[in-house]
Amino acid sequence: MIIDLAKLEKICPECDGSGYIGDPEWNEYLKKEIEIIKKYETQGLKPDEYWPKVKTEMEKLGYFEPDGPEEYECPDCEGRGTVLTEEGMALIDFVKKYLD
Ligand SMILES: [Zn+2]
Repeated sequence: MIIDLAKLEKICPECDGSGYIGDPEWNEYLKKEIEIIKKYETQGLKPDEYWPKVKTEMEKLGYFEPDGPEEYECPDCEGRGTVLTEEGMALIDFVKKYLD
């Protein structure tokens, strides 16, 4: 018998397979930052020209870099990016029976 390993796990729906989840505060901050960058880019400014302006504008709007990390390990898959399917769980249960 051959076990199809691909059927035992699936991409984690919580983090979409990345293993990490973006912090909501950071997501909001970065979204605003991108908005401002795009505005300067359409004006033809280069990164070294617009960066100081972006920072100043963000602070004027009340956006400050959040203290915590930008992303954290996905609690659903513990950073693996994959979770067990029902078949996978059944296999783990089976294996456990002989490991305990
Ligand atoms: Zn995940």
